[in-house]
Amino acid sequence: MKLRVVPFRIHPRHAFTIARSSHTWYDNVRVEVEEEGITGFGEAAPSAFYGETQGTVLAALEALRPAIEEGHPDEVRALEGALERRLGGNGAARSAVSAACHDWRGKRYGAPLHRLLGAGIATIPPTSFTIAIAAPAEMAARVAEAGEFRRLKVKMGFEGDEEAIRRIAQVSDVPLRVDANAGWTRSSALRKLDLLEELGVELVEQPLPAADLEGLAALRDASSIPVIADESCVTARDLARLAGVVDGVNVKLAKAGSIGEALRIIEGARALGMLVMLGCMIESTLGISAAAHLSPLVDYVDLDGHLLIGDDPFTGLRLVDGCVLPSGEPGLGVRPADSREDGGGGEDIHVEEAGKERGRP
Ligand code: MG
Repeated sequence: MKLRVVPFRIHPRHAFTIARSSHTWYDNVRVEVEEEGITGFGEAAPSAFYGETQGTVLAALEALRPAIEEGHPDEVRALEGALERRLGGNGAARSAVSAACHDWRGKRYGAPLHRLLGAGIATIPPTSFTIAIAAPAEMAARVAEAGEFRRLKVKMGFEGDEEAIRRIAQVSDVPLRVDANAGWTRSSALRKLDLLEELGVELVEQPLPAADLEGLAALRDASSIPVIADESCVTARDLARLAGVVDGVNVKLAKAGSIGEALRIIEGARALGMLVMLGCMIESTLGISAAAHLSPLVDYVDLDGHLLIGDDPFTGLRLVDGCVLPSGEPGLGVRPADSREDGGGGEDIHVEEAGKERGRP
């Protein structure tokens, strides 16, 4: 198959600030694979925390180009394994190739990806809508932007996060989820979990640093709120050490490296009796769509990356009653958008604390 690689930039409507980083733009990469006159599309959404940037994605795809171009999208599961053996890590780069091959197969066989996976959209849970870090009053004001969403995910892990979650709980009438992005210590997490229990928070994502499994297990014992591992769970290999330590895991294609590996995590977590959340990076409708076709298979959906940006270059997802539904068209069901809204603007911020806990492979 023929590989084409196209870098592009997207802008969140508000600066996207979490415990360790703040961005007003994201440099992602579109991947196209062509075979038999059919083109499949995928998106790489690199994260410096996992050792990737747009530059490493472009370099990884060039390094993998011979293996990709020797392969056939109909043999995507073998290709996913071959690419991982050739270049471990680089999950965003590899997952874009995987998604493009799955898109190609859906187009080749005339079926949306979720149908090829044996899943129907009737069981898709509602997505959460993320409120990123800002001044507590500003975070509470953003609840008004989340009109039709049935869950809110509040980013914590900063000075003033307790005031922010209290204010949000006062003005929101939907269940709240919290993501600390590894930003708490064991002692501060214990105190904050008491508050979150009082506020009826539905789950907490990654309260402690990724490597602190002992701390995560202690928090899980001390609180009735489900603890979900995100930064601690990259691939299916992480599941064995997380079983009994956390209640569930957050699966993201950009971490897993392929749709095949994401399915392995989902099924492995199920086998271990764990909850499964499906998450995303800040990515366009193209990248979110690849994940959205897996959403019938999970307990919690957090696929709002495309809804947080103002200049989405693709269309194909629907938001119905708070659920992100994939298109019924073949493959990922994504098309280039005809027109674009003005995104971002203002001074560019791109500050990230890169891979402290997991270096670049
Ligand atoms: Mg998270």
